[in-house]
Amino acid sequence: MIQQPTDVVLRVLRACICGSDLWAYRGESARQPGQRIGHEFLGIVEEAGSEVNGFAVGDLVVAPFVWSDGTCAHCAEGLTTSCPQGGFWGSVGSDGGQGEAVRVPFADGTLVRLPAAAASDDHLLTALLALSDVLGTGHHAAVGAGVKRGSTVAVVGDGAVGLCGVMAAKRLGAERIIALGRHRVRTDIARDFGATDVVAERGDAAVEAVRELLGGEGAQAVIEAVGTEQSMRTAVGITRDGGSIGYVGVPHGSGTGLDLGIMFDRNIALRGGVAPVRTYIPELLPDVLSGTIDPSPVFDLTVGLDEVPAGYRAMDERTALKVLIKP
Ligand SMILES: [Zn+2]
Repeated sequence: MIQQPTDVVLRVLRACICGSDLWAYRGESARQPGQRIGHEFLGIVEEAGSEVNGFAVGDLVVAPFVWSDGTCAHCAEGLTTSCPQGGFWGSVGSDGGQGEAVRVPFADGTLVRLPAAAASDDHLLTALLALSDVLGTGHHAAVGAGVKRGSTVAVVGDGAVGLCGVMAAKRLGAERIIALGRHRVRTDIARDFGATDVVAERGDAAVEAVRELLGGEGAQAVIEAVGTEQSMRTAVGITRDGGSIGYVGVPHGSGTGLDLGIMFDRNIALRGGVAPVRTYIPELLPDVLSGTIDPSPVFDLTVGLDEVPAGYRAMDERTALKVLIKP
């Protein structure tokens, strides 16, 4: 239901489960009974508040994983995730995307319109859903890592974000992209998305393998899409002196795996953080619509709303990469 005149209510057409939702599923992040979940969704505007100017009932729209007012200084700078009026779907008192409908605050600042015809194109809708989080987050990592035409890139993490990082690096013109991963299904997608090499080793062996591929040096641009101490240590290990790490893995665990002394000596930069995907959607959308990039293969299991628990189980047991929800 509309609560503020700047709200719209969306009927959800597609949503999905994020790797970060698993922390709640496993009981490792606190949730309250009745609290909603799901921060990636697209749908049709079903109701619009009296002060909503940009959207009307019937519009097909995609939501980024945080809402933002679109009017403050941070939003103007493109850092929509720092909007003081912004928030994260599924936080206490707000709706989540894994349901039938969502109340969207600050609709004009938050939502992005999609072509109406996409609503009847099943494959395209799935690809467009990636704009909600994983594609924009992968892009943020690639930008943070400083990927440009001709770059050599290494990607730590073979989840949906890491794979989208490969896609984003390729899109930005990277020449060589080394994907770290050992699950065949995932590394096959990485190759489809543009990876030129795959390294299956982990830890110190992975660092050695990447350096061997690159003639003893690391990569200029490294994408870190896991968020553990081990993955960050690997990322530092495979970065060339003077290179940059774009990190988008949500940090978990007590330490960071960062040795500032090593990073200082080797002039390694660290950039990234929570991705302001709202800012990136207008840039990435045309390439998804034209089929220049197609992130839909990251969704490898589809469930209905009543099968969502099975979807969580599949992702928790790593039998599914990313679960698509069709309400
Ligand atoms: Zn704002």
